[in-house]
Amino acid sequence: MKNLAVLGATGSIGSSTLDVCSANPTLYRVVLLAAFKSVQKMLSLCLLHQPKYVSMFCPHARLELRELLKQADSKSIVLDSEEELLQLLGSNEIDSVMAAIVGGAGLTSTLASVHAGKEIFLANKEALVMSGQLFIDAVKSSGAKLWPVDSEHNAIYQALSPRLQDTLGYCDLSAEGVNKILLTGSGGPFLNKPLTEFSTITPAQAIKHPNWSMGQKISIDSATMMNKGLEYIEARWLFNTSSDQLQVILHPQSVIHSMVQYKDGSVIAQMGNQDMRIPIAYVMGGTQRIESHAGNFDFFKSPSLTFMEPDLKRYPCLQLAIDACYAGQKATTMLNASNEVAVDAFLTGKIKFTQIAELVERVLNKPLNDASERSIESLLDIDLQSKLAAKAIIDQGLLC
Ligand code: NAD
Ligand code: MG
Repeated sequence: MKNLAVLGATGSIGSSTLDVCSANPTLYRVVLLAAFKSVQKMLSLCLLHQPKYVSMFCPHARLELRELLKQADSKSIVLDSEEELLQLLGSNEIDSVMAAIVGGAGLTSTLASVHAGKEIFLANKEALVMSGQLFIDAVKSSGAKLWPVDSEHNAIYQALSPRLQDTLGYCDLSAEGVNKILLTGSGGPFLNKPLTEFSTITPAQAIKHPNWSMGQKISIDSATMMNKGLEYIEARWLFNTSSDQLQVILHPQSVIHSMVQYKDGSVIAQMGNQDMRIPIAYVMGGTQRIESHAGNFDFFKSPSLTFMEPDLKRYPCLQLAIDACYAGQKATTMLNASNEVAVDAFLTGKIKFTQIAELVERVLNKPLNDASERSIESLLDIDLQSKLAAKAIIDQGLLC
């Protein structure tokens, strides 16, 4: 039995992970649950899964949860600080970590788990987008085992040879006969909406993904296709692709979760229901297939499968992300940071849907102070500067 930490336990991926744990009670012992501030949700998770430790990022939530756990006679220990969380992640008490905190907030804990050489189930794509080569180098030097949870990257991983799977981050695709990684995306809820109506899109409309049920941020990212852009950068790092080895294909039904094209003309696709418990069960099963409770895919009830090229005018965020991918680490960190501010501002009614891409582009064009050496500290500094720049642009009303 492995000892599991679930970072982002109260979220959509966290909840699917705990479902997979419950479906396979002899595989994982839930030792640590971590989240931001949802006290009631965390309380019920603690009572159900009885983790030895709980971590809440928000200090008020920590105090409230500690009191409620005491009243419920629970033995779960609420950690006092983020330092304690990072220490625990590096200790022998944890074997495997589900990294499912949303956004750059997950970088420190995900990287701490990588440095400690743990088995990492990576859902938190923003951590990899922000730190790229540093993340991959840390995986290599610590001997951490990295598993992609994002459904596309998980599909690609499943379609690769064991040699490529074992060298994730620095694999040689062409030596194994891979021509191209084909990253599929649905196009989100606005695939067919007239472009003239984009400026009036509301958060409620944007959050409604046609195929997947997900957290708020990734749902908005899916509507702008920034999510596919972040995934493009994620794929670049995980599969060590060159620009001609990576292509985005729209596939509105989201039945195929991504594909690998080989030089002999074969295309290997992974497909199934749109349920994150499938990739989660795949990574948690390791070398064996385990129960996910996601159900079997019914071919006879499915519509036909269609494919098309993405229209980058409709999805300027996708273009910005692809450009940032080749501009370098500073650009991808700026892209991610400004997008986080933009999504939050859109959700709280401060900016329009179309201003998300505009804001990201403006921040990318801003000169920032930048250390000559890449380090996590310098990336966190770029992250902070970009967020401040984005907020200033909004506050000063500089968007069109
Ligand atoms: P969510 O919003 O449902 O949950 C986010 C979780 O992160 C919550 O538990 C929240 O408490 C926690 N969190 C936020 N800030 C934190 C902080 N500072 N410290 C500790 N915890 C914090 O998000 P989600 O949809 O589950 O997505 C999580 C990650 O997985 C994202 O990076 C997303 O891109 C990725 N992902 C999600 C899906 C999906 O289907 N939901 C699919 C692929 C990848
Ligand atoms: Mg995905």
